[in-house]
Amino acid sequence: MGRHYTEEEELQGYLNSIIERIEDETALGITKLFIKKGMKALSDKQKYVFKTKVLDAFLIKECHNCGIPISDYEEMEYILDNGICSSCQYDWDKNYQD
Ligand SMILES: [Zn+2]
Repeated sequence: MGRHYTEEEELQGYLNSIIERIEDETALGITKLFIKKGMKALSDKQKYVFKTKVLDAFLIKECHNCGIPISDYEEMEYILDNGICSSCQYDWDKNYQD
């Protein structure tokens, strides 16, 4: 109960939930290794691929529509699904409701 997750564990959980979006086979393999064993299991070369092909692509820093900074993984996943953040989606829905 109330277990505290480390940053790495949270990142592992996030990547695990979006893993089917990673199409590059090398990046996918490295991501699976990271989820299983953590950053310390990756070689320098793997870390580089992990950063450029996984983190840069899937760690979303801000909503490209409104520019709001994104820090939680739920919202990142939301943007991957919808292309915009939940508050942009809310405004969109409000404007086009009637
Ligand atoms: Zn937005």
